[in-house]
Amino acid sequence: MMEEFMPIGVIVKGDDPPASLKRVKSLGIPTCQMYVPAEEWHSGPNVQKIKNAMSEIGVKITGFFCHFQGESYADIPTIKKTVGFLNANTRTERIEKTLAFSDFARKVNVPILGAHIGFIPEDKNNRNYNELVKVMQKICDYCNGNGQKFILETGQENPQTLCSFIEDVNRSNLGINFDPANMLLYDKEDPIKALDVVSKYVIGVHCKDGKRPEKEGELGKELPLGEGDVGIERFVNELKKIGYTGPLTIEREVPGEQQTTDILKAKILLERIR
Ligand code: MG
Repeated sequence: MMEEFMPIGVIVKGDDPPASLKRVKSLGIPTCQMYVPAEEWHSGPNVQKIKNAMSEIGVKITGFFCHFQGESYADIPTIKKTVGFLNANTRTERIEKTLAFSDFARKVNVPILGAHIGFIPEDKNNRNYNELVKVMQKICDYCNGNGQKFILETGQENPQTLCSFIEDVNRSNLGINFDPANMLLYDKEDPIKALDVVSKYVIGVHCKDGKRPEKEGELGKELPLGEGDVGIERFVNELKKIGYTGPLTIEREVPGEQQTTDILKAKILLERIR
């Protein structure tokens, strides 16, 4: 079967995977990325429940996103301390969890695993840089054994840093999930220019919008798609230029009804411009 060109997607919670898939279907969206469900879903009859839901509901899970207890995006210093694999105190345990996530993803035939791995240091002599390279080699090798790719969520570092990091990890199943809004929220490179730099590594994207922070050290503001400074039409055009054909996964990080409203608006916008 021919894969649809740039199918719309949305990133959803994994607390109750069948319920999330139903919600995606009800929004008229054919694909989703999902946060890795809790451990109770990783084995036994629950695995079959997810597989049945996927085929009965007809929504494709294009990737699972890792997340860990204790992660907080409150502000940049907190992110540095708590997110991904940077903190040595939680590193080993989180690597083990990620390998288990990879095994779970294989059981439900999902070929992509992704994560915010934490800020990659711009200075290669920083001890953490090498640690992160080793972490990614281990995880990529494991995912490769499960027939999977691993994608790095972008935006917490400059695109040049990201490229040289991927080259240093040197694993062919490592790529990126390009999130143009994060470039603005974390006050990094212009998203479209950044996309050009990292284009050959793009495996997935988040369609998210936002504005740069008003003060240094703060995070910028996430906004509904089309209302921030990404220039979403420009972004989608650039994706076409680099030959990207994969899902356009909407990400909107607000709670409740507002999220549903904004996702539906984003879907209509993307269907018009893709
Ligand atoms: Mg994102």
